[in-house]
This record gives sequence, C-alpha cells and structure tokens, in this order.
Amino acid sequence: MKADLLIRNANEIITADRASYRPKTGKYLQDLGILKKSDVAIKNGRIVDVGFFKWEAEEVIDATNKIVLPGFVDCHTHLVFAGSRSFEYEAKTAGSSYAGQHKTGGILYTVEQTRKASLDELVKKGLKDLDVMLRHGTTTVEIKSGYGLDEENELKILRVIKELQSNHPMTIMPTFLGAHTVPQEYKNDREGYVDLVKRIIPKIRRERLAEYCDVFCDKLGFTYKESKDILQAAKKEGLDLKIHAEQTGHNYGARLAAKLKAVSADHLDYATEKDVTGMIESKIIGVLLPGVTYHLTELIPGHKKLKKFLPAKIRGMIEQGLPVALATDYNPGSCNTQSMKTVMETAARLYRMSYAEIINASTINAAHALKMAHEIGSIEIGKKADLVVYDCEEHGMLIDNFGVNLVDTVIKDGKIVYKK
Ligand SMILES: [Zn+2]
Repeated sequence: MKADLLIRNANEIITADRASYRPKTGKYLQDLGILKKSDVAIKNGRIVDVGFFKWEAEEVIDATNKIVLPGFVDCHTHLVFAGSRSFEYEAKTAGSSYAGQHKTGGILYTVEQTRKASLDELVKKGLKDLDVMLRHGTTTVEIKSGYGLDEENELKILRVIKELQSNHPMTIMPTFLGAHTVPQEYKNDREGYVDLVKRIIPKIRRERLAEYCDVFCDKLGFTYKESKDILQAAKKEGLDLKIHAEQTGHNYGARLAAKLKAVSADHLDYATEKDVTGMIESKIIGVLLPGVTYHLTELIPGHKKLKKFLPAKIRGMIEQGLPVALATDYNPGSCNTQSMKTVMETAARLYRMSYAEIINASTINAAHALKMAHEIGSIEIGKKADLVVYDCEEHGMLIDNFGVNLVDTVIKDGKIVYKK
C-alpha cells in the first residue's frame, strides 16, 4: 500500500489515543498508549495507519532511535502584542509581585505599545513567534486578544490573528479577551468599559473574528458579576467560553465557568475542592499554567504570595478527576515562553506531575480545551497528521533533559514544515 509520507521504525510512538470523545482522567491520564518500534503512514494530510506494517511511500522519515508524538496543542496564549517587558522582569525577580507590577505598568504598558503598533508590524512579530512555537513542537495554538482594550485595537488584534491563520501552517484558534483589564481611560467608569466589551462582541461575530470569549475574573481584572455579564453576552452571540479563574486569589471564576458551561477554566491556583467538583460536573477542562508559577517565582521562599500549597492542590485536582490540560500562557509579562516543552518541564518540577500526565495534558486534553479532540491531539487513524519526531530514545527525555529543544522534524497536515 502506498502512502504519501511514512515515519518508519520509531523507538516509541506516543499515541495518547482512546480519548477523542472524553478527556483523559484517572488511570487513562497515566496511559500514553505507547507503541514500540512502529511506523505511522500518512496520506492526504491524515494518518492512515499506525503500528507495525508494510507501507511504501515517496517520502520516508527514518525514526530509528527517535520518538514520535502528536503536535502539542498550546490552548492558552496571548501571542499578539508589541514591545518587551524584560526590564520589568528583573524587578520581579527581586521580589516585586505581579499585582505590584500591574499598578506601575504590566498589562497596561503592553497595551500602550500594542495600540501604537500597526497591523503589519503585529503580523510580522506574530509570524516570528509562531515559527518559534512550531520549531518547538507545537502545531495548534489558541491566541487571545486583550492588549487593545478599545474597539479599534481589539478588532485590530483579532484581524492580526486572522492574517496569521492564512499565512502560517499552524492551526490557530482565536479568542476575544476584551475583558483582560480595565484600560486607563475607563478607570473611573468600569461599567462603561463592560458595556463597551459587550458592544464589541456582535461585531466580532459578524466578521467571524473569534470562536471563544474569555474574561480575566480577578482582582486585577473583572469581578464575578462583571465577568458573568460579559460571558453571558458572548454566549448569546454563540461564542464558546473560557475564563481566567482563581489566579491571584479566589474570585469564584471557576464556579462561574461551571454555571455558564465554559469549555475551560484556566490558572486555578486558588480553586477549592468544591470549585473542582462543579467543574467536573459541568465537563470543564482545567488548564494549568505552570510556566507562570515558574516565571513569577511563586514557589521560591521570599515571594510575597508564596504558593507553597500548589503541588498538593494540583495533585488533589487530578485525584478528584478533573481533566487537566497544560499551556504556555505565552505573554510578555507573566510567562514569556513560546515553548510547550519548557512548560512541561516546569509541570514536573513545580507541580510534581508524572510524564504521562504531562504529555496527555499537552496533547489530547489540550485539544479538548479547544473542542478539537476529534481532529487533533493524538496519533490515531483518521486524525490530522500533526506529528513531531524528537531526537531522543524515550519520552521521559523530553522532560528530564531540560532547557534543550529535541525536535527533529515537524509534520503539519501531513507535510514536513520543519526539519532540524
Ligand atoms: Zn492568560
């Protein structure tokens, strides 16, 4: 039988299979569906066979002593922004908290820079970031707006995302996050800003500029009531919902997610057992962002809001049966990395997650966090051929061998889009 592309004799194929209809939890989360010394056959952009067989193909990748994984799904990023805040980071590591930064600049500094940038400039920078992601093994990414905070600039960012979709091989899922924080000019008129966000939503829908609506439900963002108001308006317009919940304190975002049947609730540092129960009942994915914990040094003694409870909390969520996903939260302030591998490394070191939990959370469960698990996130017959070959002999090396990019070849929609 003849395929278009064949990956032959991989030492391990991490299929992350049998979870296309329901995310992995419990014992399934511990199972990576590993096939040894196996092949993957690809035809017309799809996986047509997985296992040990005799296919032929024009193009053959010899994966001897290498491993193959589904492309990572980075289900939470703020990729479109202008300017760097590396100057701020030194102050942060010296002990200044994220909330402290927020008052003196933080998100609003990036808003200022992003408003000044043209659509073309943002597209150029976005393409560069996507290239970095792709070379680190990510083939699908969610991108939020949220550094415009007025109609013109929020629409500009969403149009940038649209441009990126048509000019880059990666699959991109757009999210409207007009409710990221209250802009300076609405400081004394929060209600006015919430109204503005709600007025932008139908325009976004008309132009099909976003599939999801997200809100930063936090002391630094929006109250429970404001968040509910915005998310309900978005739901009415047919958008799916996401929420930044319980990041810097407990603000009932996870419960709001459960009430409104959001697709995911993200961060969850301060989520309680009751919150998690509600999320499980409403079939919500918990998106964990350990890169933020790492970058903000929140587990290092001396931090003003030391989160030493986090590893036990994450373990509790997993044991309770919450389907968890991992993402970068790539942004210029709280987590400046495009690399899912880096995030996976931090999930092991800071959250004490197992290799299997981490890889399933970065592939199939992350696909569920974007409602795309029927198409991507695992290596199974019929799915899109989004695959990555790594130059290491077993999957644990991806996490154990930290700070090093082990990507050998990236295949997107059945085509080789990057080769080391
Ligand atoms: Zn975020």
